[in-house]
Amino acid sequence: MTAYEILKQYFGYDKFRSGQAELISHILQGQDVFGIMPTGAGKSLCYQIPALMMNGLTIVISPLISLMQDQVAALRTNGIPAACLNSMLNETEYKSVLRQVYRGELKILYVAPERLETSSMLKIAETVPVSMVTVDEVHCVSQWGQDFRPSYLNIISFLKALPYRPVLSVFTATATQEVAQDVRNILQLKNPFCLTTGFNRENLYFGVAQPRDKSEALLEFLRHHPDETGIIYCISRRLVEQVTEDLNDAGFPAVRYHAGLTDQERYRNQNDFLYDKVRLIVATNAFGMGIDKSDVSFVIHYNMPKNLENYYQEAGRAGRDGSPANCILFYDGSDLRINQFFINNFGENQEMDPKLKQKLRAKEMQRLRTIQNYCTGRSCLRNYLLNYFGDTAPEYCGNCSFCRIYCEQKEITVPTQKIISCIYYLHQKNLYFDSKSLVQILRGSKAKKYQDLQLEQILPTYGIMNDTPEKECLAMIRYLIQNGILTEKNQELHLNRKAGLFLKEQQKIFMPVRKALPSAESAHTGRKKTVSDTDEILFSLLKDCRQKLSQKEHVPAYVIFTDMTLRDMCRKLPVSDMAFLSVEGVGRVKLEKYGDAFMKVIRSYQK
Ligand code: ADP
Ligand code: MG
Repeated sequence: MTAYEILKQYFGYDKFRSGQAELISHILQGQDVFGIMPTGAGKSLCYQIPALMMNGLTIVISPLISLMQDQVAALRTNGIPAACLNSMLNETEYKSVLRQVYRGELKILYVAPERLETSSMLKIAETVPVSMVTVDEVHCVSQWGQDFRPSYLNIISFLKALPYRPVLSVFTATATQEVAQDVRNILQLKNPFCLTTGFNRENLYFGVAQPRDKSEALLEFLRHHPDETGIIYCISRRLVEQVTEDLNDAGFPAVRYHAGLTDQERYRNQNDFLYDKVRLIVATNAFGMGIDKSDVSFVIHYNMPKNLENYYQEAGRAGRDGSPANCILFYDGSDLRINQFFINNFGENQEMDPKLKQKLRAKEMQRLRTIQNYCTGRSCLRNYLLNYFGDTAPEYCGNCSFCRIYCEQKEITVPTQKIISCIYYLHQKNLYFDSKSLVQILRGSKAKKYQDLQLEQILPTYGIMNDTPEKECLAMIRYLIQNGILTEKNQELHLNRKAGLFLKEQQKIFMPVRKALPSAESAHTGRKKTVSDTDEILFSLLKDCRQKLSQKEHVPAYVIFTDMTLRDMCRKLPVSDMAFLSVEGVGRVKLEKYGDAFMKVIRSYQK
């Protein structure tokens, strides 16, 4: 089977998302890969698909024990032979997994990093053909990463224990240049194919608010967003307790999660959340590494976290299925002091070289300043985040609290037509320029190089925008580049297919620009979900059906089908196997397992 056929048959998706196909094909050619893709981008498929296509076993190292089970459950519901080895298994289960490994029955084995040093893993390394080792959340290997895990260093000795070096594929959602370099060195990636898809998550709305009363602001938000699933992060256990109580008192059922609870309660609360028994979870940052629940509609930070890496990762747990979602941060000055306190006391009880300790603390302080600027700065939040992670981004995104208050949408249809036709005429004359020069031409510059070319005489669009300030012209061109209408390569502007369509179909185009006067509109209630075209009644019937199956099979609801898939069912109303297969997220195995149950619901609804 080809990668594409596997995508369709096992996972039920029609096309690869950005970056997936490239990563898969490099892995299949035997090259190491390093994928840096935001949460929700679909990193798992990048190693799961090649794992199915290669001969031997793929070992996946992932830091989250509790959620490995869900990953494996998700694979198994898609008919893929996978299992995990971690400390939650009892001896019989453990042995049964080992037996499957030795019989060659498994394609994918998830392993916690702590397990790598055990004799059973070393024996596997020696005797079982391993075609690939995958490291998820690979930033954990670097001391300069935001959550360094010493057990990740076991990976190196494990790789050395293998009789030959398999393909190494590593993934993370957040890595600064420095961390990425560190990862490459530590794991000794061999000439890896590196891919960064960019960090932008278009469907997320980012907001910062400084409410006088955080508790009231939270309730206000919840009143605006009833029935939505969300995570509320607090900085301390004490605060988790308090906020959970407040919510329950106010009639918003919520569960708590922090490291001070018994294992039992933590596990129960997490599962209630994952299995949709409760919509709200209030947690410290102990919750969530690898939370793959795909229908989280909002993530609220009740306090400023200690750095932007953590923030982006935690906030990124919203909207994994691509639906619009809100990420809101409540900030006040005391958050800063608490974080400073944590940093100053960091490593107090740890044996550590004092110089290193000092260095790490200084690094954390610097990170803290960056997130503080995010909270108090006066610029587009998305722009700030993306720049921090090394992406280019427009000055205004139109979808964050800053842009919502300070920006408006300005129509730029006519100037866009002028820009496109100017480039078109220049190309006709075999002339290619970069953005800066194009602006000069559009504004009728008298510079010698244009006079020598006699542009004023031969070009009907010469000076056609002489009434628009240079900065504005440039901003528009940049915006058109970001929207895929133009491309700038080797300092030359080119027209894309979209440019032709734009003219032909007489489309309108709007660009967010700074408003003259700020309005007092409140920013922290987030963005209302756009009214969907989903039939809400059928949607809730399908959700009930999913809920029943999820309880019967003891897997989280989203492992059966995500909300996206249920919505697609509402649109397509499939009542035959063929039609059901065309629903996004339905592969062969899921059709066989669940098709009848869901089609029954649809049929009886239609009657
Ligand atoms: P990541 O690990 O990058 O945070 P996941 O691998 O958990 O993201 O994928 C997030 C969601 O996107 C999952 O529900 C997954 O099934 C879905 N997904 C992944 N690839 C595709 C695709 N090509 N088309 C549609 N959905 C996809
Ligand atoms: Mg992942």
